[in-house]
Amino acid sequence: MPASASVSSLYHRVSRFIPPAEWMGFEDDIAAILDLKKKRNAVILAHNYQTPEIFHCVADIVGDSLALARRAVDVDADVILVAGVHFMAETAKLLNPGKTVLIPDMEAGCSLAESITPEDIALLREAHPGVPVITYVNTSAAVKAASDICCTSGNAKQIVEGLGARKVLMIPDEYLARNIARQTDVEIIAWHGHCEVHELFTADDVRQLRENYPGVRVLAHPECPPDVVAEADFAGSTAWMSDYVASEKPGRVVLLTECSMSDNVAADNPDVEFIRPCNLCPHMKRITLSNIRAALEHNQHEVTIDPTVAVDARRAVERMLAI
Ligand code: SF4
Repeated sequence: MPASASVSSLYHRVSRFIPPAEWMGFEDDIAAILDLKKKRNAVILAHNYQTPEIFHCVADIVGDSLALARRAVDVDADVILVAGVHFMAETAKLLNPGKTVLIPDMEAGCSLAESITPEDIALLREAHPGVPVITYVNTSAAVKAASDICCTSGNAKQIVEGLGARKVLMIPDEYLARNIARQTDVEIIAWHGHCEVHELFTADDVRQLRENYPGVRVLAHPECPPDVVAEADFAGSTAWMSDYVASEKPGRVVLLTECSMSDNVAADNPDVEFIRPCNLCPHMKRITLSNIRAALEHNQHEVTIDPTVAVDARRAVERMLAI
C-alpha cells in the first residue's frame, strides 16, 4: 500500500527516535493499520511501554494499566485491539464483554501475572482467614476472579486504605507491596512475584547515575525494589512519571522503568534531557506494527474469558474503578 502524505506527516512525532531508513519500513504498515481501523470500526489501546511507532502513530488511547482499563469502559467501537500484554487484553474484554478484543500475539505475557494462580490464593485465604485479597491488575482474569478487589501501581495506596481493614493481602508484586507498606499503617502481607524488568534496577545503579549525570532527577516505578525507590527522588506509576516530567520540566531526568517509556515521554518534552538505562520488557516487545496489521486483517487473536470467571473478575475490577 503506498504511504499517504498524512502517514509521512506522522514522522515528525518520532523522528528523534526512529532513523529515516527504519521509518520507511514502517510507513506501509501504518497506512494499512489506519485504513483497517476505519473499515473495522476498531480502536487501538497502547500501553506506555509500546515502541514510539505504535504509541505515537497508530494508537487511539495510550496510558498505564489504570488509564487503559478506565478508558476501555466506554470505548465506542466494534473491535478493541490491545497493544500490550495478555492481562491487559483480558481486562479490556472484562469491561467490554460485547466487543471483539484482539491481541496481536497471544504469547505476550508477564512475569508478575505468571507468578500466581487461583489455587495459590485459596491457600493464602486458608492461612489468613478473613483478610481481604487485593490483586494488582497485572494478573490473569482467573486470579482476579479469586480476589476481592484489584489495584494498579497508581491507586494501590488508595485501595489498601479504602477497604477499612487493619490487614490486607496484596498480591502478586512483592516490591509494590513493600513500597506501599512504607506509606501506610495498614499491615500488608505480600507474595513473592516480581516484574522481570523493574527487579533489575539496583540502588547502586541510582548512585552511579547521580555521579555520572549531576543534577539528574530520578523517578522510579514502584515495582522496583524498595532500596531503589528509597534512593530515587520520587516514585510513581508510569502515568505519574509522565505527568511529573510534563509539569516539572526537570533539566535532566531518568525514568527507572521499561525502555520505551522514555522515548514516548521524550517525544512530548523535547527540552528535557533523558538519561536512558535500557531494560526492555520482552513481552511488550512481541507487539509490532506488522502483527497489529495482521490482527486487524485476519481478526486474530481473539481474547475470550470463561463467563463464570468473567463475572467475578469483573466485580474485582469494577470495585477498584468505583474507589
Ligand atoms: S514490564 Fe514487567 S509488569 Fe509490565 S508486562 Fe513486562 S514483565 Fe509484566
